[in-house]
Amino acid sequence: MTELKLVFDEPVQKKKAPRHLADMTPEERREVSKEMGLPAFRGTQVATHYFTHLSDNPDEWTDIPQDLRATIAEKFTPKLIELVTTRTTDNGMTRKDLWKLHDGVLVESVLMLYPDRATVCISSQAGCGMNCPFCATGQGGLTRNLTAGEITEQIVAAARVCASGALPVGQTRLSNIVFMGMGEPLANYNPVIQTLKNITLPNPDGLGISARSVTVSTVGLVNGIEKLTEEGINCTLAVSLHTPDDELRDSLVPINERFKIREVLAAADAYEKKTGRRYSIEYALIRDINDQSWRADLLGRLLKSRNAHVNLIPLNPTPGSKWTASRREDEQEFVRILESYGVPVTVRDTRGREIDGACGQLAASEKAKN
Ligand code: SAH
Repeated sequence: MTELKLVFDEPVQKKKAPRHLADMTPEERREVSKEMGLPAFRGTQVATHYFTHLSDNPDEWTDIPQDLRATIAEKFTPKLIELVTTRTTDNGMTRKDLWKLHDGVLVESVLMLYPDRATVCISSQAGCGMNCPFCATGQGGLTRNLTAGEITEQIVAAARVCASGALPVGQTRLSNIVFMGMGEPLANYNPVIQTLKNITLPNPDGLGISARSVTVSTVGLVNGIEKLTEEGINCTLAVSLHTPDDELRDSLVPINERFKIREVLAAADAYEKKTGRRYSIEYALIRDINDQSWRADLLGRLLKSRNAHVNLIPLNPTPGSKWTASRREDEQEFVRILESYGVPVTVRDTRGREIDGACGQLAASEKAKN
């Protein structure tokens, strides 16, 4: 059995990213302000600029004395992410940003516009230690965890683009956040929780976005799901199951050697019980690997009495992969079988394929260029 020691280990980071107000609690923002010899309310003021007005430009902070703005900006809003490239597709309705962090590490986020919402898909780690063989990010291993500041900055950047009016839909509001970019969010637990607070706390302490509009997607780290259950943050949980049998899952999602399907579903059920939130089961349909009707049957039986919804994702083949998406008829049969068990099922649209939309592909292709 492979040794899976990465679950809660913080990989060594040579030089930590500068501390940002998004790494602090509201109280800490006020404390830091006092430590600077300023009144506590300056800490709240700068949070208001950042979370309410989405501004990290000190020139706009007119309620703060001009001679203080540069020092406050340095302390609270150091630049953590720098845009390297943006690719757009679907008539500008999908936009993928590649970001460079302070140490040159690359991560990506994707903004997807729909008639009724604007969703950003963000990265919680640079790389990933979970090693799922069909995932581009998994192939490069884990580089490092992101700080809450680095994760939050991706969200605030997306919120800013939405508010700018530069998108084809005009001015809009960022409404949904999904932790489905690079990384395993529950393996970078504390920064992810801090980010969830930055998202859900009302202005000026956070962005004031409802936890219902936030999805944390996990490979199935049972201890992480259990901890999240106790947090009292009622975000949507998504579990990347990809097959209903342990035998195949051991190879598709190697952490399954440690946390079996039965335990993962039990943890998700407990989350559902505590939060009242239906959870999602993610299932990448891979031709002739996990798309057989007997597997759909087994999945239907596993889920029929659970409060779960299945999200089928046509496999987005990674470069050099021997696997591809299921045939149309197999996908339809899979849906039909699940529905026959009364299991709610949707097939995810495949946004951004031509811009390396799959998890980790843009960062991988950028690395390959260098
Ligand atoms: N570590 C988290 C987030 C990963 S990305 C998790 O495992 O849930 C979000 C989803 O995209 C996961 O379900 C992941 O398995 C899936 N995914 C990754 N690569 C994919 C690909 N090439 N095609 C389709 N889905 C993919």
